[in-house]
Amino acid sequence: MSEPVSLVWFRRDLRLSDHPALAAAARRGRVVGVFVADEALLASAGATRRAYLASVLATLQRATHGALSIRVGEPGAQLLALAGEVGASALYATTDAAPYGRERDARVQVLLKDAGLDVHWIDSNYVVAPGTLRTSSAQPYRVFTPFRRAWWGEVRLDVTRVPDVGWRPTSGESPALVGQLGGTRRPWYFADLADGPAPIGPVGELAAARRLEEFAATAGDYARRRNRPDLAGTSRLSADLRFGVLHPRQALNVVGEDAFVSEIAWREFYADVLWHWPESARRALSDLDGRLDVDRDEPAQARFALWARGQTGYPLVDAGMRQLLGEGWMHNRVRMVAASFLVKHLHLDWRWGARWFMWRLVDADLASNQHGWQWCAGLGTDAAPFHRIFNPTLQAERFDPDGTYIRRWVPELAGLAAPLVHQPGAGGWAPGYPAPMIDLAEERREALARWARARGRA
Ligand SMILES: Cc1cc2nc3c(=O)[nH]c(=O)nc-3n(C[C@H](O)[C@H](O)[C@H](O)COP(=O)(O)OP(=O)(O)OC[C@H]3O[C@@H](n4cnc5c(N)ncnc54)[C@H](O)[C@@H]3O)c2cc1C
Repeated sequence: MSEPVSLVWFRRDLRLSDHPALAAAARRGRVVGVFVADEALLASAGATRRAYLASVLATLQRATHGALSIRVGEPGAQLLALAGEVGASALYATTDAAPYGRERDARVQVLLKDAGLDVHWIDSNYVVAPGTLRTSSAQPYRVFTPFRRAWWGEVRLDVTRVPDVGWRPTSGESPALVGQLGGTRRPWYFADLADGPAPIGPVGELAAARRLEEFAATAGDYARRRNRPDLAGTSRLSADLRFGVLHPRQALNVVGEDAFVSEIAWREFYADVLWHWPESARRALSDLDGRLDVDRDEPAQARFALWARGQTGYPLVDAGMRQLLGEGWMHNRVRMVAASFLVKHLHLDWRWGARWFMWRLVDADLASNQHGWQWCAGLGTDAAPFHRIFNPTLQAERFDPDGTYIRRWVPELAGLAAPLVHQPGAGGWAPGYPAPMIDLAEERREALARWARARGRA
């Protein structure tokens, strides 16, 4: 009798090591890998993230000796067709915790089971699967610190060894096609903002392992350096984790520094919050979200465009927004400052900024992005209070003290040293660099007035 064939449906787990679903399929018999490019998910991705995904898929396809079938279309129909083509009798996949993925998987399960396939969901893309933890009163966690404590109690870092896989070659599309798909749902307020792909560094499992190793060598300094965009003080593993090229368990097996563990825990916390409140992807958990006045008129759109292009006249904000355009990535401290500026100094809807980040970031992740934005906007669960408003100039002086990061991303300021580089408007000379687009003190007062009005509407 010929060996049974299983499909392994790759989604946010684009790797071959420490992969429990792949290991289970390999033990059963022959394996066909499949990735389905789904327009519903790719629509929010700009050119950079799509190109990034295509590069990762190309490395995975090579690693499977061509046994990764890349399909385009509705996942259920594509999987069913492929199962018929290769005679597969089972499907293995890692669970997905995001709202769309959960609904899609429920649909696919019914479809494939009706067609006689066994369906196995194994492991998750997190160390502790979202939805697992509850408080002592059986409620979901809304506050990070107790979540982190409970989470740490559940952390298991056992590695799954994947046996030799009997790959069964199959047909499919080229990964390059995936890089050209999607990106069709550009919101109107993006207007004419350019969308070229940013250059992509080494991707794939080996590159991620190398990045992790390099980071491990300096991780002892992480807590001290992680807030400094001028230093290479963070792991830069976010896109690897986003696409599951690296599982967070693999990262924690190598780096155990407390501050790093906490950042991984933030990622898991936000995924858990989104699991319990899927609607929080669009509406913040704080009811201030519906009551706070935001601007949406034409001048508001013009302010958004200046922010997105890195032309605000505030050097740290501009450096960050230009890093996002240039690399498809931005340092966490600068994400916080840029997001706070959009909401609290420009009085725009956090959703506008969140969409632009989703569009441009290679690590764009619904849970971390939407909740990161809500935290900065003072509207999320366990968020910084609204009235704590970052001053982008003071943030620059503190976290980029000699202006190295600003000079790297804002060439008009390349000739300026600190302290002038932090507030070129004050110096009156920086050819080509815009004057500050707003007055910080004035807009801070306006933000607080809007906040007071919103609270009065309770
Ligand atoms: C407005 C805003 C939007 C964000 N959008 C995203 C996003 O779409 N995708 C994303 O992965 N992260 C997002 N973050 C979190 C954070 O900025 C990035 O994870 C981090 O900058 C990635 O760089 P790194 O890998 O060097 O991080 P490191 O400092 O090395 O941290 C290690 C890992 O921990 C996780 N992590 C770190 N900080 C956070 C955090 N605050 N929240 C959740 N997870 C975290 C990431 O997976 C990261 O790779 C956002 C933060 C803000 C303030």
